[in-house]
Amino acid sequence: MSTQYDLVVVGSGAAAAGVASRVREAGRSVAIVDFRPFGGTCALRGCDPKKVLVSGAEAVRAARRLACRGVGGAPSVDWADLISFKRTFTDPVPAQRARGFREAGIEAFEGRARFRGPHALSAAGIELAARNIVLAAGAEPVPLGIPGQDYAITHEQFLSLEVLPPRIVFIGGGYIAAEFSNIAALAGAQVTVLQRGERMLTGFDPDLVGWLMESFRSLGITVETGVTVAAIERAEPSRNARVRERMSHALRVRYSSGAHEASIDADLVVHAAGRRPALQALELEAGGVAVDGHGRLRLNQWLQSVSNPAVYAAGDAAQCGPPLTPVAGRDAGIVAANLIEGNRRAADYRAVPTVAFTMPPIAAVGLGETAAREASRSLRVHCRRASDWYTARRLAEPVYGFKLLVDEASRRILGAHLVGPAAEETINLFALAIRENLSTDALREALFAYPTAASDIASML
Ligand SMILES: Cc1cc2nc3c(=O)[nH]c(=O)nc-3n(C[C@H](O)[C@H](O)[C@H](O)COP(=O)(O)OP(=O)(O)OC[C@H]3O[C@@H](n4cnc5c(N)ncnc54)[C@H](O)[C@@H]3O)c2cc1C
Repeated sequence: MSTQYDLVVVGSGAAAAGVASRVREAGRSVAIVDFRPFGGTCALRGCDPKKVLVSGAEAVRAARRLACRGVGGAPSVDWADLISFKRTFTDPVPAQRARGFREAGIEAFEGRARFRGPHALSAAGIELAARNIVLAAGAEPVPLGIPGQDYAITHEQFLSLEVLPPRIVFIGGGYIAAEFSNIAALAGAQVTVLQRGERMLTGFDPDLVGWLMESFRSLGITVETGVTVAAIERAEPSRNARVRERMSHALRVRYSSGAHEASIDADLVVHAAGRRPALQALELEAGGVAVDGHGRLRLNQWLQSVSNPAVYAAGDAAQCGPPLTPVAGRDAGIVAANLIEGNRRAADYRAVPTVAFTMPPIAAVGLGETAAREASRSLRVHCRRASDWYTARRLAEPVYGFKLLVDEASRRILGAHLVGPAAEETINLFALAIRENLSTDALREALFAYPTAASDIASML
C-alpha cells in the first residue's frame, strides 16, 4: 500500500508537531510517523516529567534550608507518589496528541520510518510518498561503548523507576547527570557522578559551576571528574546472606582516573553521557540525504538537506542550534515557513537561554567569558558571589551569584550567567535584552517588581 502526501514528518515531538500543524493549516496534506507513543521527548521523557520530579525534590531542599528558620518537620520525597504525580502529566499525552492530529486532519502512523527513495519512506509496512519530508526524529543516547553497557539504564527508565535504589552512579556530567543526581540525592539515594571532563556542566561558566558544586557536596553527591569509565559488571555476591539479598542486583562500575584504577558498587547505573541525532534507523542513503563526518545532517541555512532538496530537518535531529525544546519549536516555524512560502527564513540561534535545573538552578545566555573577550575590546565583567543579598538570605540559599559580560563601548550585554534562586526565570530577561539589543542603561532603568530576583539586575550591573 502506498499513500501520497504533500508532507511526511518523522517524529511527533515539539519540532514535528510544530511543522505538521502549520503546513496542514496552509491546506497541504500531511502525515506524521513515530515509532514511539506520540508526544516526543520533552513531554514524555524529558523536560516536563523531569521538572515534576525537580519540584518535589526542591520542596524538600527548601524545607531543609529553612529548618530552624520558621519551618518545622522533616519532609522527604515519597518516590512512588512523585512518580504517580509525574504520570498525571505524561500518561494523557499520547492520546491527546493523537486526537490533536486527527482533528487537524493530519494522518498519524505508528512505525519506524526508513527512506525508500528521495521522496519515499516506509513505516509499519506502509509506503509514504511525499513532495517533502521533514526529519524531526530527535536524539538518542550515544552508546557508552564499554563492556556491560546494557546494565546501565537511560534517563527515560530513570523517570519511570517505581523504586529508587539506594546507591546510584551516573555516568556523564552534563544536564542529565547534574539534574538527575540532584533529584536522586534529595530523594534519599547515595549518589556518585563519574564525569570524563575536568568539571561538570562544561557548557556553563566555570566560576558559577564551582559555586554550584558546593551545593552538590551539601547534598552528599560525590563528583569524580577526569574519569574514564571502563566497564560495568555484576558485582560478586557478598558472603553475608543479608547483604547478598539486598544487593541481588548490585553492579560494579570500573573506571580509571589517570594511572589510578578504581571501582564503585551501585544498585543502579544511569547512562547520562550524551545524546546524538537519532538518524541511524532512517537509512538516509536510500533518500540521498547527506551527513557530515560526525554523522550529522548536512543542511543549508534554510534547514534543508544540501543533497536532497525535498528533505528538511528540525529540532534535535537537525542539531543546528542547541538541543532544547524552544529551539525545536523555532526550527519548526522556520521549516514550515520555508515549505509554505519558499526558502526565506534562516535560523538565528543568538541569545538562546539555557538552564540546568539543579538545586539551585544554573542558567546562561549569550557568550561565555572566553568568547566575550575575543568579541569585545572593552569588556567589563560584573561577577560576584551574592549569597549575602536579600534574594539568597530570605531562602537561606548559600549559592547565589552572577557573571555579566558587558561591552562597555556599546553598553550591550554579551553574555549573562546566573546561579541561584530564580536563575531560571531571571535569565529570560537577559535573553530579551540581548536579543532586542537593549542597553545596560535601559535594563538599569527598568522597574521590576520588588522583592523579586529580577529586581537584583540593577545591582548586578
Ligand atoms: C532528560 C531530558 C531532559 C531535558 N530537559 C530539557 C529542558 O529542561 N529544557 C529544554 O529546553 N530541553 C530539554 N531537553 C531537550 C528537549 O527534550 C529536546 O530538545 C526536544 O524534546 C527536542 O524535540 P524534537 O521534536 O526535536 O525531538 P523529540 O521530541 O525527541 O521527538 C523525536 C521523535 O522522533 C521519533 N523517531 C525517531 N526516529 C524515528 C524513526 N526512524 N521513525 C519514526 N519516529 C522516529 C522518536 O520516537 C521521538 O518521539 C531535555 C532532554 C532530555 C533527554
